[in-house]
Amino acid sequence: MGIDGDKMTKWRCLVCGYVYEGEQPPDRCPRCGAPREKFVKI
Ligand SMILES: [Zn+2]
Repeated sequence: MGIDGDKMTKWRCLVCGYVYEGEQPPDRCPRCGAPREKFVKI
């Protein structure tokens, strides 16, 4: 059985550059308050 360690997705805020790690982007950027639509998968 292999362990897939590639499940952590990273998201970057297009407004301030904040990087968030998780399956889903946050509702709002904790740094600048930008909405989720401003996050892109990286
Ligand atoms: Zn931001």
